[in-house]
Amino acid sequence: MAKKVKATAARTAVYPGSFDPITLGHVDIIERVARTFDRVIVLIARSPDKQSLFTPEIRKTLIEKSLAHLDNVEVDIHEGLTTDYANRVGAMVLVRGLRAVVDFEYEVYMANMSAKLAPDIETLLVFARPAYYFLSSRSVKEVARHQGELSGLVPSPVQDALLKIFKKGKKK
Ligand code: ADP
Repeated sequence: MAKKVKATAARTAVYPGSFDPITLGHVDIIERVARTFDRVIVLIARSPDKQSLFTPEIRKTLIEKSLAHLDNVEVDIHEGLTTDYANRVGAMVLVRGLRAVVDFEYEVYMANMSAKLAPDIETLLVFARPAYYFLSSRSVKEVARHQGELSGLVPSPVQDALLKIFKKGKKK
């Protein structure tokens, strides 16, 4: 049987992901979730076998700068199972964003795995805003690599960081 939760208990949600880098699609999800929960932790997954552009520490700084206007949001880095982290901080909810239909299968798989590992923790799927439906960290890096316009895709601290890396001829 699921644990009884007091209606007054502070509600913490964890939003796990790679955030390499954070985009305006992520920011939109976080802003919306931050209105619903007392505390939101954006959790950067440290995965040694995944090629990333930014180190988890730089990703953390970029997220903190981009979310400075939200005072109930924190950023953390974690290596291992997200459900273990959620249990440790007393979070009852894992947030994931859902964009195009292609996200669906993966997100259902993740939600089922989390439910198996931690039956008390609920996965909350939040629909992306249509404007951000096709926005991904991967596409943003592609645009930056080819010196495309980044405004409207990522927060300004991320724009600056990408411009520094992909200054003409610096990195391919
Ligand atoms: P992961 O590698 O875990 O998929 P991402 O950083 O790519 O990490 O995404 C984290 C979460 O945010 C995922 O649930 C993903 O579907 C969601 N997400 C990614 N981009 C957007 C977007 N543009 N709008 C809404 N949700 C998004």
